[in-house]
Amino acid sequence: MDLVYTPAQQAFRAEVREWLAANIPDRPLRTLEGEAGFHEHVAWERRLAEGNWGMVTWPEEYGGRGLDLIEWLIFEEEYWGAGAPLRVNQNGIFLLGPTVIEYGTDEQKARFLTPMAAGEVMWAQAWSEPGAGSDMAAIKTTARRDGDHYVINGQKTWSSRASFADWGFGLFRTEEGSQRHKGLSFILFDLDTPGVTRRPIRQLHGEPGFAELFFDDVRVPACNRLAGEGEGWNVAMATAGFERGLMLRSPGRFQATAKRLVELFRAHEADASPAAREAVTRAWMDSQAYAYNTYAVAAKIMAGGSIGAEASLNKIFWSELDRAMNRTAMQLLGAAAELKQFTDGRTNDWLDGYIFSLSGPIYAGSNEIQRNITAERLLDMPRVGKG
Ligand SMILES: Cc1cc2nc3c(=O)[nH]c(=O)nc-3n(C[C@H](O)[C@H](O)[C@H](O)COP(=O)(O)OP(=O)(O)OC[C@H]3O[C@@H](n4cnc5c(N)ncnc54)[C@H](O)[C@@H]3O)c2cc1C
Repeated sequence: MDLVYTPAQQAFRAEVREWLAANIPDRPLRTLEGEAGFHEHVAWERRLAEGNWGMVTWPEEYGGRGLDLIEWLIFEEEYWGAGAPLRVNQNGIFLLGPTVIEYGTDEQKARFLTPMAAGEVMWAQAWSEPGAGSDMAAIKTTARRDGDHYVINGQKTWSSRASFADWGFGLFRTEEGSQRHKGLSFILFDLDTPGVTRRPIRQLHGEPGFAELFFDDVRVPACNRLAGEGEGWNVAMATAGFERGLMLRSPGRFQATAKRLVELFRAHEADASPAAREAVTRAWMDSQAYAYNTYAVAAKIMAGGSIGAEASLNKIFWSELDRAMNRTAMQLLGAAAELKQFTDGRTNDWLDGYIFSLSGPIYAGSNEIQRNITAERLLDMPRVGKG
């Protein structure tokens, strides 16, 4: 692999940087976990779409630029380096989008990707259920076939931003009496369909973006199913591969945090302990290591490979790196770490970052589960309870 950027890639980087510098909102948006902030972030998605930056890797006919994964990584580095807002449609563009490209029909690609790239439809992921989090194969919510529709009944939970999103993608049991991974289908649904009830869940920060979803005889057209009936598990595993292994958390995000951490360290260097100095150095090195690893994953995919169980290792790495960096920042800040606003009026972004980083080892599949997958599938160790 050649780690030198080509002149075309450097020109692309310059173009991204220039557009972001001219277009990034001049003050931070409110949190996307609250209703007002959610809509501010939707407006930002539309601004990005006007610049044709919705999702650069998608084919041009679906609102992308037809670029490759290396160019996407360059875009992401510039995006995070410039301090641009969080992507409110991250579950759509980074999880569902690549899944639709892999499994969708041409009609589904046109129907779902184009409005996503245009920032018109915001997506929520509806997989978890009260009895099916880590053990996702325990999903109970049913989708019974009735002519050219499915009729959905049951409950989902922990659906990020589903309180305000437009559409959801979920796994549902389409085969009556089926068990575990069999008989599940991957179905997309409008969150405003009659029979869908959203019940917001307030998080630690007090905002209500998270939601439980209740389905009461919800009729969804059968053409909203991705891939074949009963093939949902394999489709969901492809989505999870994008989520854990490549797209949801690109290295640019962590490199930008590491850079801010170094700046924070410099401001507090006089009172910083040797342990803090070491933690900052490690954060910098780990964010670089994560970037190089991701370039290798991208090169593998561009050469025709796919993301396998190593996505689990990746997920453990980025979530623990994020938590470690934010914790180090809290230590450097000392007593001020707990303030929402510093005495000079600046917002303490590290506090939000720290609170969110605590959830990293849980969402996208808990790290304990990722360690089980790593042990069984990458290290070939025996399955727990199977000797
Ligand atoms: C910030 C955030 C955003 C989320 N967003 C979404 C979303 O948009 N859509 C969605 O569908 N879900 C979402 N989730 C839910 C998330 O996927 C689940 O929380 C996660 O899969 C764990 O499931 P659970 O909460 O039911 O915990 P449980 O499965 O009950 O697990 C509890 C604890 O037991 C451990 N554990 C369970 N089984 C094993 C085992 N076999 N071996 C070792 N340890 C085990 C787990 O690691 C965990 O520590 C989100 C969660 C968070 C925190």
